[in-house]
Amino acid sequence: LVRFRGRGNRCPRQMAQGREDDGNAPPGTGCTEDVTPASPAIVWFRNDLRVGDNPALVAAIESGRPIACLYVFDEVTPGRWRMGGASRWWLHHSLLRLAASLERLGAPLILRRGIAHDVVPRLVSEFDAAAVYWNRQYEAFAVAQDTRIKMRLGAMGVEAHSFNGSLLHEPWTVKTKTGEPYRVFTPFWRACAQLGLARSPLPSPKRIAPFAHAGGENLTQWRLLPTKPNWAVGFEPEWTPGEAGAHAALIRFLEGPAATYANDRDQLGIHGTSRLSPHLHFGEISPVQIWAAAHNAPRAEKFLSEVGWREFAHHLLFHWPNLPERNWRGSFDAFPWRTDASGLAAWQRGQTGYPVVDAAMRELWTTGYMHNRARMIAASFLIKHLLIDWRAGEDWFWDTLLDADLANNAASWQWIAGCGADAAPYFRIFNPVTQGERYDANGVYVRRWIPEIAALPNNVLHQPWQADAETLSTAGVRLGQTYPYPIVEHGVARQRALAAFSSLRSEI
Ligand code: FAD
Repeated sequence: LVRFRGRGNRCPRQMAQGREDDGNAPPGTGCTEDVTPASPAIVWFRNDLRVGDNPALVAAIESGRPIACLYVFDEVTPGRWRMGGASRWWLHHSLLRLAASLERLGAPLILRRGIAHDVVPRLVSEFDAAAVYWNRQYEAFAVAQDTRIKMRLGAMGVEAHSFNGSLLHEPWTVKTKTGEPYRVFTPFWRACAQLGLARSPLPSPKRIAPFAHAGGENLTQWRLLPTKPNWAVGFEPEWTPGEAGAHAALIRFLEGPAATYANDRDQLGIHGTSRLSPHLHFGEISPVQIWAAAHNAPRAEKFLSEVGWREFAHHLLFHWPNLPERNWRGSFDAFPWRTDASGLAAWQRGQTGYPVVDAAMRELWTTGYMHNRARMIAASFLIKHLLIDWRAGEDWFWDTLLDADLANNAASWQWIAGCGADAAPYFRIFNPVTQGERYDANGVYVRRWIPEIAALPNNVLHQPWQADAETLSTAGVRLGQTYPYPIVEHGVARQRALAAFSSLRSEI
């Protein structure tokens, strides 16, 4: 953190030309005085797969140097958090779109695979580059890697410039009066509002002067797409990865569901939310662009506060780097989680016998996405009805979500489990039947994802075991055969969860 907060060693020419980074370069980052105009600047793309509002790209272009655009498929990320299967699908398509946009602007996208802190300096030497530009990330391993790269570039006498391209406010800029990180969302978001928007969205470049180079790797050889079987076949009709797809999603939202978002965002059967999360995760659109487009729209407050939850999650991850692995409240370390492989498998496959939970899990598997209310219900079921450790759910979501995001996923799982910051209390245990009846009253969601019970009438759709024999038979449902009985009874599970929780109570 200290390294990231410190100002870089500014050379006089940088200062005169205003070409230093945005003030967060580490000490030791040097400046090369004797570069020839032909020495390129490398723009290292990461989760900022866009050309609009891209501070690193704009700064590199302003340097007047020819530009080499680089994406590194990074193999350094720690095992558990290597990119999941669904995210790889998105990445493939997003890189194709980014490469096409850059090509139109005049510069090809160079693809390299490897460990970024080796690949980037190696490419600097190969290209005799004078500077590297990138937008920052906030996961502990990314912060460590950035620091390492900055040090190496500094030792090579190469400029390193990093920027804020993915948050409204970086985690170290929002602090309580006593200089501490925030632990509660509402005052955090109020503090963000007081800071105001740090900048307006930057325009897309009109042209990029390319650096002639020897070529990169072939995207198809990275094998990011599933083949046998192609489990991503259901993603295609739902999503358009890439910058244009992101802006189309924002416009669709602002012209439609935004007006009724506050009321409809919990309704499972409709597309009442923006569905921007994978676009935001991969940086195909920035929160600054979203803010600029939405903040004057009528009734945008609730929507923007959800973008605020994304900021808060990144704030938490930065200040508590173990958030994805450790209970934020240490008192939960003694929680008596159960080992239940068959319960976990039933949950993953959408075979728990609770229609709203099963619909949620099947939506996730088929489309790579799950509605936020459904995420809350499904996560609560795993943690509280099955007493399975929240980290098992976090892992499954990491692999299956297109928007899998270390900060948002970890903060949300901990929030549901009750062990996170500003979390829902553990004893708030969702009843999956009443949640289904409330947020999918006409059964659109459950019928879409569980065709085997679609013919049941609404009054038993969310609890098929309550239907009489004739109703089941008319609907073609054979419980225990075509659709499971509940794997756990709600009342029993609730009491068990409360008892487990009370074993911790004295410590909380
Ligand atoms: P909208 O309602 O349109 O919200 C706009 C944006 O705000 C979203 O795109 C997202 O970036 C952000 N946002 C909304 N809700 C939250 C939230 N609770 N926390 C943080 N940011 C939020 N979101 C992810 O992006 N990646 C994840 O890996 C992820 N895992 C989750 C796991 C669980 C158990 C739960 C309960 C929630 C998780 N979320 C995650 C948060 C939320 O469910 C999704 O961001 C949201 O459903 C995405 O749909 P949307 O873009 O239509 O959201």
